Amino acid sequence: MNGTIKARIESIFDQVIKRNPGEPEFHQAVREVIETLGPVLEKHPEYAEYKIIERICEPERQIIFRVPWQDDKGEVQINRGFRVGFNSALGPYKGGLRFHPSVTLGTIKFLGFEQTFKNALSGMPIGGAKGGSDFDPKNKSEGEVMRFCQSFMTELYRHIGELTDVPAGDIGVGTREIGFLFGQYKRITNRYESGVITGKSPAWGGALVRKEATGYGAVYFAREMLKVRGIDMEGKTAVVSGSGNVAIYAIEKLQEYGVKVVACSDSAGFIYDPNGLNLDTIKQIKEVERGRISAYQAIHRDSTYTAGGNIWNVPCDIALPCATQNELDEESARTLVANGCIAVSEGANMPTTPGGIKVFQDAGISYGPGKAANAGGVATSALEMQQNASRDAWTFEYTDQKLQTIMRDIHRDCYETAKEYGMANNYVAGANIVGLKRVAVAMLAFGII
Ligand code: GLU
Repeated sequence: MNGTIKARIESIFDQVIKRNPGEPEFHQAVREVIETLGPVLEKHPEYAEYKIIERICEPERQIIFRVPWQDDKGEVQINRGFRVGFNSALGPYKGGLRFHPSVTLGTIKFLGFEQTFKNALSGMPIGGAKGGSDFDPKNKSEGEVMRFCQSFMTELYRHIGELTDVPAGDIGVGTREIGFLFGQYKRITNRYESGVITGKSPAWGGALVRKEATGYGAVYFAREMLKVRGIDMEGKTAVVSGSGNVAIYAIEKLQEYGVKVVACSDSAGFIYDPNGLNLDTIKQIKEVERGRISAYQAIHRDSTYTAGGNIWNVPCDIALPCATQNELDEESARTLVANGCIAVSEGANMPTTPGGIKVFQDAGISYGPGKAANAGGVATSALEMQQNASRDAWTFEYTDQKLQTIMRDIHRDCYETAKEYGMANNYVAGANIVGLKRVAVAMLAFGII
């Protein structure tokens, strides 16, 4: 990288830190992207001239609102709602809603920034956004969740629309919450606007495969990364962190490919089952009972439950971090590598810390960053938008085929681009460069906006 470009990147990053104080996750996401962009900036001086990177780092709009609701005891509760429209160069804002007590504006900005690159990389006509709230869905009754969602949508509805901004789910937001949110949108606007939100139940406008798409997609991506190295997945051992929607369907697809998945987790601890996890039990606990993963141990006596603990100490060939950001640090990465791990495919957003990523890259193992490996979820949301726009409903097989093709294309684009820019096998660089170039072409075409 030449000196001028290096200095420019440093100065952009300094500005981001200065203008967005107290948002370390956002800083981390920006740094991870811009430090891989040197070679592309050298090739495209027009990006600097038109300040493409500076513009991409500044969200187009940020909405923060009060979400008041009443709990079952009649007490008034106040939460904070967010929706950040990061970039709409390639299509309407698109990205999920996260309901989790840790959510701050900085969290939503990191996720929205990542989403812009991910969505561009998916090849679908969608911009990048994210939203959510610091609402904690844990231990809330169905009535409380419904009242919260209704209050949240009572403000959000005026900012979204099928051609403007299309939310979906993320941590803490599944089909049930999407139902409450869509119901309230329909009621307020007097419009059955299916394309305004994705992740709907297939019973009322949702796409088949959307529920499975992020987890399946992360496995399809892992399969592609191994394929270029001539390695087959069958017979391998995997560890999948998390036990939410992404983790469950990653486990399902891994098992279908003959991989033995021995561990999964929730925020309280992890389960290790030497016989391979029983997915029916996990689905029963998490999807039906909305319980804790510790309940697994009482049913499968050979398994062990470790409260707290680090799931990455469990030896495996393939690791799929599918829980949350920064869940896999440098030390965990070292342990995985020392235990013989050959591939990491991220189902979550930014689950590996920068130190962890470096360990994987130095060790030469296949490392698929979330914005590439988990793009199957949002890509299938875009397929849901297509079906809604044409008032059509596709079969599971047809939609899954499309998802597989999309993941194969994402892998190929990252792989080839990394090679083209002299960073072979660096999927982080490949993903960032492909995403940037697609967004930049549109931004340049639109002028200074
Ligand atoms: N929350 C998901 C993601 O991180 C999906 C977003 C969507 O489907 O719009 O990509």
